[in-house]
Amino acid sequence: MTQDCIFCKIVSGEVPSDKVHEDDEILVFKDIHPQTPVHLLVIPKKHISSLADITEEDYGLLGRMMGRAHLFATKAGSINGFRTIVNTGEVGRQDVYHLHIHVLGGDAPLPPMVYRNS
Ligand code: AMP
Ligand code: ZN
Repeated sequence: MTQDCIFCKIVSGEVPSDKVHEDDEILVFKDIHPQTPVHLLVIPKKHISSLADITEEDYGLLGRMMGRAHLFATKAGSINGFRTIVNTGEVGRQDVYHLHIHVLGGDAPLPPMVYRNS
């Protein structure tokens, strides 16, 4: 557990969350400010700051997180697809520095992924 990390506090139970899946290495819970009808966060229980901080030893864990996204999305009601996003660092506008995969979905197509300025 890393002090002052909100997601580590969710893992430990110090901060409540709306959990939809938990196993020995992964926690999945609903985003507190959902951007879409289905908006889940898939996180590793161990603290990894961002996708820029993983090591080769984390590749299997990341694969299991990403590999189960479809299962989590479907169980949450996003039947016909979903979107995964991993915001990373300043350029990626990451707010919480505990690695997380956003799983976004619902029953209608989402807006375009990235808006162009020109
Ligand atoms: P990011 O900008 O990719 O770092 O996204 C962080 C996400 O964490 C945002 O979508 C927040 O709404 C979400 N979030 C922050 N605190 C909590 C919390 N206590 N429970 C659930 N989701 C949270
Ligand atoms: Zn953490």
